[in-house]
Amino acid sequence: MQLPQVLVKSEDPFYIGGHLGAPKIPIIDHHPTDATPTMKILFWGVRGSFPVAEAHAAGYGGNTPCLEIDAAGQSIVIDAGTGIRGAGQALVARGVQQIDLLLSHAHWDHIQGFPYFAPLDEESVTVRVHSLRHPTQSLNEIFSGQQQAPFSTRPLEEVRAKLEFIEHEDGDEFDLGETKVTCRRLNHPGIAAGYRVESGGHVLAYICDTDLDGEVLHAEGLDETVEKADLLQQLRQNARDLGHSADLLVCDTFFLPEEYEPLWGHSCPDEFLRLAGQVDAAGIWLFHHRPGRADSDMDGILERYRSAAAAEGVQLHAAREGVEVSL
Ligand SMILES: [Zn+2]
Ligand SMILES: [Zn+2]
Repeated sequence: MQLPQVLVKSEDPFYIGGHLGAPKIPIIDHHPTDATPTMKILFWGVRGSFPVAEAHAAGYGGNTPCLEIDAAGQSIVIDAGTGIRGAGQALVARGVQQIDLLLSHAHWDHIQGFPYFAPLDEESVTVRVHSLRHPTQSLNEIFSGQQQAPFSTRPLEEVRAKLEFIEHEDGDEFDLGETKVTCRRLNHPGIAAGYRVESGGHVLAYICDTDLDGEVLHAEGLDETVEKADLLQQLRQNARDLGHSADLLVCDTFFLPEEYEPLWGHSCPDEFLRLAGQVDAAGIWLFHHRPGRADSDMDGILERYRSAAAAEGVQLHAAREGVEVSL
């Protein structure tokens, strides 16, 4: 399996985000210079729960979840946290006309950046929002609700772009150009999905937010005739299927074991290292960082898990804003 190339994009003219403290040199460069990457992943927002604007957290970044993927020319965005503001400006600057937004779920930290997504102001652009079907509300209603008065002065109907909402079922697979996407439910309060994105023989798995190995069943609207233990097992299997042989596994590592809260629906690095070992994933990227984590805390977490990752044969990274990974 080819190791990913990792670059920091802080000097990229299209990077307009709030990225302040990341180093301006490549962190890792294992990608052969004569190979053309088939998938580029850029982290625009890596923080969980709510954005932070603290100097001590500026190195990893304070924006809530958003990834931009260029998969063989197809523009895909995952989640619409506040990081999507920078992603949108970059997409408009490059003149991208078709964008597929894969939404994990509608908790506020994953949708709050959407009203500030610049491509929505462009008449020539089509934005397709993909999500799991919600049993009681359409995706359109969820996004309209966020922008209705008195929360906002700008209703969703004023969007100039062509906006489509596509609701999926658990297990759906769909093609975006030559890229295959799989959508699976995860163990998290409400209706939450993870995604597997496959392009040119490379795999990105996005498994956030979820309590991977917890004993509490969080997900709503599941088949009540099925035993809870079996449902829990199914959701765990979903995560394994999403992460299988992934080159890059973006994971919910909101907690450390000593902080774990069983009712919140989040995981620790320990569970994802085990998962990566089980499913033969090449590397995990700690993500959805707890809002209170300072940069020094994140560095300490990487150090704490370095030997465990080596024991599992898994590369360990912590996602930070402005880092681009080429596969
Ligand atoms: Zn979240
Ligand atoms: Zn959530």
